Amino acid sequence: MADGLSRDRSEAVFGDYKGEYTKEQATVEANRCLFCTDAPCIKACPTHIDIPQFIRKIATDNVKASAKTIFESNILGMSCARVCPVEVLCVGDCVYNHLGVPPIQIGKLQRYATDRAFENGWRFFEAGPDSGKHVALIGAGPASLAAAHELRRHGHRVTIYEKRRDIGGLNTTGVAPYKMKADRSVEEVQWVLGIGGVEIRTGVTVGESLSLEDLEKQHDAVFVGVGLGADTLLSVPGSTLPGVEGAVDWIERMKLGKVPTEGVRHCVVVGGGNTALDCVREALGLGIPSVTMVYRGIQEKMSGYAHEWKAGQIEGARVEWQALPIAYEGEGRVASVRCQRLDTEKRPVPGAELSLPADLVLVAIGQSKLGAMLAKLGGVELANGCVVTDERGATGRKGWFAGGDCRNGGKEVVNAAAEGKAAALAIHDYLRARG
Ligand SMILES: Cc1cc2nc3c(=O)[nH]c(=O)nc-3n(C[C@H](O)[C@H](O)[C@H](O)COP(=O)(O)OP(=O)(O)OC[C@H]3O[C@@H](n4cnc5c(N)ncnc54)[C@H](O)[C@@H]3O)c2cc1C
Ligand code: SF4
Repeated sequence: MADGLSRDRSEAVFGDYKGEYTKEQATVEANRCLFCTDAPCIKACPTHIDIPQFIRKIATDNVKASAKTIFESNILGMSCARVCPVEVLCVGDCVYNHLGVPPIQIGKLQRYATDRAFENGWRFFEAGPDSGKHVALIGAGPASLAAAHELRRHGHRVTIYEKRRDIGGLNTTGVAPYKMKADRSVEEVQWVLGIGGVEIRTGVTVGESLSLEDLEKQHDAVFVGVGLGADTLLSVPGSTLPGVEGAVDWIERMKLGKVPTEGVRHCVVVGGGNTALDCVREALGLGIPSVTMVYRGIQEKMSGYAHEWKAGQIEGARVEWQALPIAYEGEGRVASVRCQRLDTEKRPVPGAELSLPADLVLVAIGQSKLGAMLAKLGGVELANGCVVTDERGATGRKGWFAGGDCRNGGKEVVNAAAEGKAAALAIHDYLRARG
């Protein structure tokens, strides 16, 4: 098992909800592509993979070249094929949507090509000649990994500092196991690092066990890819009762270890974003019989993807729209959630309360921002806790760059990969200009 992950992790019970193509299925699907010039699917992909090009190569049975096309643009093309919300990105923009014909299954084709690369051990990139420069990357998530790979292609020495034991960021600890399990993410990290020359130092929290000033002194440039922080929790009575958990924390424990579900009959998920929807589907997948999402707004205002909610409903999820938890109740452990009904403007409806049974409450209302860790460094600007940079990832402090969730406030893996690569190219230009 990759990197000491235990075999009986809770996430192991999940199947692969999207499934993979056989060679025949991939060939048939690839041959449906219209190979559009000015293809909208390319524009919809934050890493701008040449989608018609890689699909054409599958159609002509040149899978190795297809995988190379994908990885040229996005070195995390394997995980993105599994975790990208393609319904609102490339597939959502496929021209077939306007013709009343099912769109091309770009994610599944990308998975077909990239999986063959992993299976066959194909490698496409080499480290560049040593530049004599050394770059520090904070965090071993998708943003830093994409940056590290690009920096190595340009010959810069790279050290990644990661506070956790496990590498891969939320790709390892956060994404739903029916899309990708932790060991697959760790395998991808190892494949990306196969370019050589990347030192990884786990168990190092920059800003605590290693100061920002020391990091700066020891390196020629720094990339900040720390992502987001701890779950935000509602401060209502009973919020410290056992059984009331932060969603991202619970998901991490479910993916890397075991979460107790025996005897859990009712799970309430608080929130209406994608993490809430993941929790709903995960709780159902773990066999919890009753799972209810509680969201303070109306369905149309929910930030979670409609396709994920539809899937959750098919799997048996219930929902209370326009409801806000005002107390978690129980003796020694949570047993119910008392909620206040809200109107469409999210104002309390006087006298309208409801109580939901709950032996597990997962609070998915957001994560803290980690930009504050940079506040004491002169020149780095923050906006709502996110690191402010120019379009290539440069902060206001010389030699400091940032990308991924800590910069964009929390998007997708593919955005982190795109921003990490863009910043690496900016760092390369910066180091070259410094001589
Ligand atoms: C529950 C959940 C499910 C998601 N599902 C999907 C999905 O299905 N598809 C999708 O595309 N996106 C998904 N996302 C979003 C996606 O995971 C993120 O956008 C992406 O991982 C961001 O990458 P990153 O490198 O910026 O940050 P992260 O992946 O968060 O990585 C940051 C890394 O930095 C480390 N770190 C933090 N502070 C320090 C420090 N001071 N010193 C050293 N190391 C530090 C962290 O431990 C972490 O490993 C999900 C997010 C969540 C929360
Ligand atoms: S928009 Fe659809 S049909 Fe056109 S190139 Fe992209 S995947 Fe193929």
